[in-house]
Amino acid sequence: MRFSARLAAALLLPLLLLGACAGVPTASPPTASLSDGVWMKGDLHIHSRHSTDSSNNPVAKIIALAEAVHMDYLLISDHDNHVDGDVAHHTWADPEYRSNSLVLLYGAEWTTHRGHGTAIAAKPYDHQALYDVRDARDVKIGEVKRTLGIHLSANHPANGTNNFTFSYDIVDSVEVWNSAVWPANAAAIRVWDGLLKSGRKLTGRGGSDSHHGYPDTPAQATRLSYQARENNVGTPTTWVFAKARTPQAVVDALTNGRVSISANPYAPRVEFYADLDGDGRMDMMMGDNARPPGHPVAFRVQLTGPAVVPGATYTAKVVKDGQPFATLSLSGQTPAAVSFTDTPSPTGRTYYRVEVQGPPTPYPEVPGSMALSGTMLGLSNPIYFNFDPNF
Ligand SMILES: [Zn+2]
Ligand SMILES: [Zn+2]
Repeated sequence: MRFSARLAAALLLPLLLLGACAGVPTASPPTASLSDGVWMKGDLHIHSRHSTDSSNNPVAKIIALAEAVHMDYLLISDHDNHVDGDVAHHTWADPEYRSNSLVLLYGAEWTTHRGHGTAIAAKPYDHQALYDVRDARDVKIGEVKRTLGIHLSANHPANGTNNFTFSYDIVDSVEVWNSAVWPANAAAIRVWDGLLKSGRKLTGRGGSDSHHGYPDTPAQATRLSYQARENNVGTPTTWVFAKARTPQAVVDALTNGRVSISANPYAPRVEFYADLDGDGRMDMMMGDNARPPGHPVAFRVQLTGPAVVPGATYTAKVVKDGQPFATLSLSGQTPAAVSFTDTPSPTGRTYYRVEVQGPPTPYPEVPGSMALSGTMLGLSNPIYFNFDPNF
């Protein structure tokens, strides 16, 4: 019996390999549940006193603000070059890096000559190994990243001073909204659309990149202390639809693209769904990838949260394959929603994403941020059709 089972395996293996090599279409993975999970909000890009270009920003101060504005998760991502890669004995070892209510992640800003990235992980990992290969070939860096089992994200990819000039094959997401200054992200959005058009299923995420806290006394104020009231925890806020309230579930949701970005922690959350079979029930959300059904698909853009202003008008700009597709109005009810239909190409790749504008949401703890983000309220990740899961 044992022999014949081995023989069967030996005969089958080449057939399986042949199938994989011959380009046999791989079915898209089944879409995960739209209801079995929890929306969690947080910030993935903040600098504490362990970054030497910060001021008045001890870890405890950042965590206190994050808790006060009801964040669910947080990553303090200090520059790794300021500690020669040894974040494990600085930010991570800081006794203040603890919270009773926040899911805390592990990571750092990978700060290199070729741009910056954020390493994101559910538990401590060997960040030193990633730091040490920062000037290696991208293939080598990609190997190290995979071995470490971390999520790597490209930061402010086209901000003009620290453009991300590594291969995007080594990253899992892109920081498409850096800091409260929304208009400064236009080039990052163009980079993202280019990557999406190339067939990469890359998550877009936010990050405040805040460096400066409120001084405790006037004497502690620095030249850049004004930034504390303009750009701080949650400007912008990244929402993830996680399967559970755990660090790994947050990282997984980020990788899978079940993510949207809001201007601040109080702003409405943008949700984006699709009904594939026309039964009136949504089957997919942003981040999900399906085979095109060959007939029109109904899409739904929704704004959720108490900050939706009754009677106000919100505008959803739909982008299809990098091009403006439609501009839709949402009325301010809770939830505010609008639908549209389109037929994704039955043969090629298609993606849809939305950007929503409307009345700014007050953020009393960081009151100067409203003027910087303006009417930009939030953006979704794409809904994908026919993207190769093995790209
Ligand atoms: Zn940076
Ligand atoms: Zn930074």
